[in-house]
Amino acid sequence: MLIPRTHPRAVSLHIRERLVRGYRDGLVVEEGLLAHGRGEMFDYLIGERTSRASRMAIRAAARMLVEARHPVISVNGNFAALCPKEIVSLARVIGAKIEVNLFYASRKRKRAIAGVLRENGAAEILGLDERFSRQIPRLDSARRVVDERGIFIGDVILVPLEDGDRTLALKKFGKKVITFDLNPMSRTAQAADVTIVDNVTRGMGLLVAACKAAGRRGHGRGGRFDNRKNLSDSVLAIKKNLGRMSDA
Ligand code: ATP
Ligand code: MG
Repeated sequence: MLIPRTHPRAVSLHIRERLVRGYRDGLVVEEGLLAHGRGEMFDYLIGERTSRASRMAIRAAARMLVEARHPVISVNGNFAALCPKEIVSLARVIGAKIEVNLFYASRKRKRAIAGVLRENGAAEILGLDERFSRQIPRLDSARRVVDERGIFIGDVILVPLEDGDRTLALKKFGKKVITFDLNPMSRTAQAADVTIVDNVTRGMGLLVAACKAAGRRGHGRGGRFDNRKNLSDSVLAIKKNLGRMSDA
């Protein structure tokens, strides 16, 4: 028999509050709240902790980011509401560009997101000035706009909590894609080169630390990473957790 917990842990309630605040401050849209709900459900299934598979993915992502020529961090409303400090630290550690890139774009929302990033120390933020807008092919009009100084010329792009169509379009456009996605079965999780199946609120701090460590060790170290295998390990971990619940 399945015995679900009746209440999410205090920490996930705290994270939810950050999202709601982000919604009230105009960073997050209604669809973002729904996406968060899907994320919470998968976080519940993975046991609300960073798994061994996720730690491996974080190390692989760090290697890729440290070796990138032109790394870019793509920021949407949820990501900015959840971990603005870590976004700015990561950009500093790996020398990445920060680009505000939204599924549901509006100038007002972009400004609100940029404001929060600036409050947390970001200096340069791309994706705001339309004079630098370019289009990635094979994606419908509203969602294909990117910054020519950022994603357009980037080689490794971190796109957390991203939609599958967009991730696939980035892949077809020749980018290496790293994502955070709590759902190991989503199209984004399946299409990315490195999928970190973890909550961004836990994983981003670990990714910053891993990039610092990878930078110190120097480039070219570390074993091969197999994203398919890593994703199936995450699915297995969910199965195991469900098994434990049903045995209880
Ligand atoms: P896809 O389009 O990739 O098939 P989807 O349509 O289910 O996925 P989207 O709304 O497009 O979902 O993308 C949001 C993804 O982000 C979801 O898979 C969701 O589980 C995940 N997610 C939501 N909140 C978090 C979070 N805090 N940390 C990590 N992942 C999250
Ligand atoms: Mg989607």
